[in-house]
Amino acid sequence: MSFMKQSANLQPIEDTVFAVVSMAKQDIAEHGADAVVDATIGSLYDECGKLVAYQNVFDHYNAIAKEVKAAYAASFTGNPGYRAQVKNWVLQDQPIHLNTSVIATPGGTGAVNMTMINVLEPGQTVVLPEICWGSYNLMAAQAGLQTAAYSMFDGDHFNLPSFKETCRRVMADQGRLLAVINDPCHNPTGYSMTLEEWRQVVRFLNELSEQGPCVILNDIAYIDYSYQGQHSRDYLNCLNAMNENVLTVIAFSCSKTLTSYGLRCGAALILGQDEQRVREAEIVFEKTARATWSNIPNAAMENFTWITTENRAAFESEKQIYVDLLKQRSALFIQEADACGLAYYPYKEGFFVTLKTPDNNLRDQYHEKLIANHIYTVKVNKGIRVAVCSLSVAKVKGLAERMKQILSTL
Ligand code: PLP
Repeated sequence: MSFMKQSANLQPIEDTVFAVVSMAKQDIAEHGADAVVDATIGSLYDECGKLVAYQNVFDHYNAIAKEVKAAYAASFTGNPGYRAQVKNWVLQDQPIHLNTSVIATPGGTGAVNMTMINVLEPGQTVVLPEICWGSYNLMAAQAGLQTAAYSMFDGDHFNLPSFKETCRRVMADQGRLLAVINDPCHNPTGYSMTLEEWRQVVRFLNELSEQGPCVILNDIAYIDYSYQGQHSRDYLNCLNAMNENVLTVIAFSCSKTLTSYGLRCGAALILGQDEQRVREAEIVFEKTARATWSNIPNAAMENFTWITTENRAAFESEKQIYVDLLKQRSALFIQEADACGLAYYPYKEGFFVTLKTPDNNLRDQYHEKLIANHIYTVKVNKGIRVAVCSLSVAKVKGLAERMKQILSTL
């Protein structure tokens, strides 16, 4: 007799990423680092194979008084200075005319989860991208939600027809909509939508919202690694056109922005036309925060605020070194993939490039064969994820060609 509730799924999490990461480590131990390509790790690594932890983030963090680290945060919604600064940082100089509120969360994960559990009732359906970060599906399942997936691409573009069709179907069924859009720097393909694609999404949801409330959950976990610099936020302007029946929740994460994955700090930024509706979301989110994690590490919030205000120039120039490095690694991979005809999903920017596989059977065989050749990657739906964020330029060189050769032996 299980002590867990009847609806609990007792299957352990199938952590295929962890399994392949351990295999890569084992292979390195046996054959040496030169013989192995470990493209599994989804964090930023330097050219010497070391995890990047920005000096301009951690020097200040280490100097924070222990009493500040020990203290509870000022509020369940986050420290006031942090809330204000998240808004400034995310929106930067975009002229946003919407009502807003910020709730501090433990990373982007907290913001995504909090939105799913408060916008939909158990049994309802959340709309997700077909190729996506695996945790969305787990969060939906834990919340008792069904999922409906939209195909990501129509050729090299965002698949607007599929997005619309999926949203219409879900709206017809349940009279409300929550759709996740992981943009810019989509994980795992590295796609970023154009301004026109964003305009059309907003226009469409305005129409659809005649049938019921529509919420866009815009996950921006990787936004600060966009190759567009200041222009990475231009699309936010399109949100000004939302009508009062459409709400956006932006899930922001300090994990990638500050290379502080373990400090568990992020936020949900709520944006809407109607002040009352934004306030309602804030009230409900605050209750979730208090009932789940209570409050966010005080020093992590204080550190973000200081770094992105007083230390902003130094922090940004240190981060830019790695944005440039990411650009160099991904450009090399793509240039070589193009030269040998290795197919990948439309990549624009970000931590990962994903190879296209027509179906998941072929993907599984390919993944095995790569491992047999000391190349370790992560399987995603209909693809193979290559984490250029953690591969040195030297490791990237020649990789696409080798992967293409292995594919041709299947
Ligand atoms: N969203 C995406 C697409 C991610 O890949 C991740 C982390 O890998 C997150 C959100 C959340 O990360 P965190 O909870 O550390 O902020």
